[in-house]
Amino acid sequence: MDITVYNVYSKYLKEKFGEKVYKLPISLPITCPNRDGCVGTGGCIYCGEEGGSFENLPNTFSVKEQVERNKDYIKKRYGANKFISYFQSFTNTYMPLEDFKRYVEESIVDDVVGISISTRPDCINDKYLEYLSHIKNKYNQEITIELGLQTVNYHTLKKINRGHTLAEFIDAVIRNKKYGIRTCVHLILNLPWDNMDDTIENAKVLSALEVEEVKLHALYIIDGTELGRMYKKGEVSIISKEEYKERVITFLEYLDEKIVVQRIIGRAPKENSLFVNWNESWWKVRDEIVAKMKDQNTRQGIKCNYLNGLAIKKFKNY
Ligand code: SF4
Repeated sequence: MDITVYNVYSKYLKEKFGEKVYKLPISLPITCPNRDGCVGTGGCIYCGEEGGSFENLPNTFSVKEQVERNKDYIKKRYGANKFISYFQSFTNTYMPLEDFKRYVEESIVDDVVGISISTRPDCINDKYLEYLSHIKNKYNQEITIELGLQTVNYHTLKKINRGHTLAEFIDAVIRNKKYGIRTCVHLILNLPWDNMDDTIENAKVLSALEVEEVKLHALYIIDGTELGRMYKKGEVSIISKEEYKERVITFLEYLDEKIVVQRIIGRAPKENSLFVNWNESWWKVRDEIVAKMKDQNTRQGIKCNYLNGLAIKKFKNY
């Protein structure tokens, strides 16, 4: 589908690297500080056994093997030539620095032009970033930290048992910038405790912090999780697909047009799920949102007029 109403990731990659670039998912035998008792137990209330991903090779394969196998497959299937190694599951900076270095270096094979690392805002510090900045320069890699935030509403963060607040997120974004590392923020716009005001504030905070990328997911509910239990007992409900579409459109309108949008709805596993994307395929919901934006003649950034001292703008020459 021709997407011109928001700043699409695939277009950004094509402009930056001169051709299509594909992500190679990597899964490590690790956990998360919100599951092992370091900052919490039980994890985020929606987190399943896979720790945020479900389509990877088993983590018993080495990093190099996973990267090479996925690369061969994607090369054959799509004729791709350039790739991003993507550390996807759980918290990929939650390990001793020496282990982290070993994994990162294993992931840099021929044709890899970037590394994306998913983690939590409370799992970033200067030592890891200093190392990543060194790798960026030494191997000419584009490095992105993908930060799970889900919402800027710190009351909701408590309800979903994230184990961190908004402050750690702000700290991580500022630190990434200091080291020339890009930030991609993961958000869920239909958390049961959030409303349209939160949606707008999500866009405003990301724009004010000048993050580089954002990835939106619709909440999916896995059986066996705390959220699954709440859903079955009727303690939480999910907004309609129409309302989700409205939230995504409003979010994009308030989002700075420079921010690259990786996704506006995620793929989700059907097995063991109680609720997934209103029983629609993710791309159909995406296409509906894009069509609606075109109909309404709207686009990303159209309402991003609140930064840099809006009130002063009434005086001429300011
Ligand atoms: S931070 Fe990620 S891996 Fe950890 S509990 Fe939450 S969703 Fe799961």
